[in-house]
Amino acid sequence: MTSRCSYSKCSTNNNDQASNNTAHLLGCSRCKSARYCSTACQKKDWVFHKFKCVSPEVTRHEVDGFSIEAIQSAINSASPGDIVVIKEGAYGNDGQSTLFVNKPIYLWGGEENRDNVVLDCNLVIDESDGDHDGSKAVVVADLFLDGTVTISDNSYKSVTLCNIELKCPNNSPRDALKISGCKGKCLILGCDIYGGSDGVHIASEQVYLKRTCIQYAQNRGIFSRRIFTIEDCEVSGCGGYGIKGSAGWTEKGRHNDIQPGPWSSDGPWSSGW
Ligand SMILES: [Zn+2]
Ligand SMILES: [Zn+2]
Repeated sequence: MTSRCSYSKCSTNNNDQASNNTAHLLGCSRCKSARYCSTACQKKDWVFHKFKCVSPEVTRHEVDGFSIEAIQSAINSASPGDIVVIKEGAYGNDGQSTLFVNKPIYLWGGEENRDNVVLDCNLVIDESDGDHDGSKAVVVADLFLDGTVTISDNSYKSVTLCNIELKCPNNSPRDALKISGCKGKCLILGCDIYGGSDGVHIASEQVYLKRTCIQYAQNRGIFSRRIFTIEDCEVSGCGGYGIKGSAGWTEKGRHNDIQPGPWSSDGPWSSGW
């Protein structure tokens, strides 16, 4: 049970005295796990929390060990609809492994801080077993990924990446996030995506980018072959275009900030990137 307000931007979380005062936190009545210092924080967090607000009765699988293989094994033993929880720590170290989410599950990292759950691997969301009816959702949330994400051909009802920091290795020939096929809705929410040949490559219908920051792609921040929706996002510091595509996009909200560059191979980090 967290001792902090579940709204990550809550100002009381920077205050040590406030974090000792847990008696006044309000619990989410549905999942009993999120807790807030005020109804204002609860309202602000709902845009994120609704993807994690799952009944306490849903089966949870704790990852046993600090390796990508351990996460994969927890995913493999989960049933559709289950939650796989990755505890704080660093997983993988060669950047070569691939983690497959091949069934509709929740894959969750840090309850309080995504930076405390670091995966050094590529993540592929696809549908290898096909033993479900395609009616359920995949939600990956609250973790830091040193690698790339590929959302491959699948018939999930929806795929959501929520509060993910994705750092594609510098000068990688791959795109940081490639969405090549999802029959349902694909939502990228509250993510920070750095690097890649293109930052986000869209070749699928119903893609929504919301409150997401895309920076330091070598070529295009977003390259799209389909019409997509972008809302309250920032694209900057890329080598070519901020957004380029053969289809077009729909802008919602009033706060998209799309800048073409300038790109720097140093990215936001002066060394080691
Ligand atoms: Zn709060
Ligand atoms: Zn809840």
